[in-house]
Amino acid sequence: MTAANTHNKNAETLATKRKARPNVEILAKGVLEGDKASLARAITIVESANPDHWELANTLIEKCLVKHTSSVRVGITGVPGVGKSTFIETLGKNLTAEGKKVAVLAVDPTSSKNKGSILGDKTRMAELSIDANAFIRPSPSGTSLGGVARKTRETIILCEAAGYDIILVETVGVGQSETAVSSMVDFFLLLKLAGAGDELQGIKRGIIEMADAIVINKADGNNVKRTKSAEVEFKRALQLYPPKDNGWVPTVTSCSALHNSGIHETWDVVKAYISQAKKEGGFLENRNTQNENWLLQTIDDHLKSNFYSDHNIKAKLTELIAEVTQNKISPFRAAELLLELQQSKT
Ligand code: GDP
Repeated sequence: MTAANTHNKNAETLATKRKARPNVEILAKGVLEGDKASLARAITIVESANPDHWELANTLIEKCLVKHTSSVRVGITGVPGVGKSTFIETLGKNLTAEGKKVAVLAVDPTSSKNKGSILGDKTRMAELSIDANAFIRPSPSGTSLGGVARKTRETIILCEAAGYDIILVETVGVGQSETAVSSMVDFFLLLKLAGAGDELQGIKRGIIEMADAIVINKADGNNVKRTKSAEVEFKRALQLYPPKDNGWVPTVTSCSALHNSGIHETWDVVKAYISQAKKEGGFLENRNTQNENWLLQTIDDHLKSNFYSDHNIKAKLTELIAEVTQNKISPFRAAELLLELQQSKT
């Protein structure tokens, strides 16, 4: 390559970099003005794995934090096929018809493995996705649930700054994703189907404890009678659980997402919860506790990833694991040596 060619190539790379580097001021302004394209771009930066974007992302978030909102954040979970996307589409359309702005986000830690997101997918919410007052964003991909959850949490802040009053966060009943979602929302809703009796079988105890409402979907056609008896059984079963710290007693209702029946009533439950929590002071407290937990969690994650990505530590760790498995050194002593190695660097 000639010198001129190299020069041109370098200039080209620089130009591409400049072009790729977004102007954070303009972007934040666009987000705060509710511009969807700016919002989508800002989320892409927050989701970016490129370390060059991290500082930009932090600045963007900071600029967007200033906007105080009266948003409502609702988590929605349920097994595949229960009707989550149908429910969100129907609920979302009801809300936008009332003049609300609705954002649909998703936490799906499996999506990166399956190449593409299962949740929060526009093709699953065909009508809502073309609604001017709705914004749908599929689950960010990531290697860990923690990473996916962090990105979704920051996306919530951006959506609220863009004027979305209602944030629906969808997740599927696998692994720990419900716990992650329940720790970023004000209200957590569990969608269920009527089964053949023994309703609580097959539901993880933890989910019941997290749920502020259980809604039995597909209460239509031949299914209505079964849904009613499932409702009774869930209510009976829920009595076995202690009341929540804030005094809220989880509700059990039914709906047909397909036919838009029981959806308004479900939203009334959410509103009742929010107004109770605001009256009794639990609403902001809950959000503050969530923020505090995320701060601590972020520190934990950083410390851990700094530790394990250090080359010296990696080498020493392999060595010490071998020694530990041969009983040449105790795990405690080995850990101490590794931590000392880290400290000696700082
Ligand atoms: P998801 O996997 O939980 O998102 O479930 P979907 O919303 O994709 O729904 C799965 C299937 O159930 C689809 O064929 C829907 O049309 C159907 N479905 C969803 N809600 C209802 C409902 O209220 N009644 C009936 N009969 N079918 C429904």
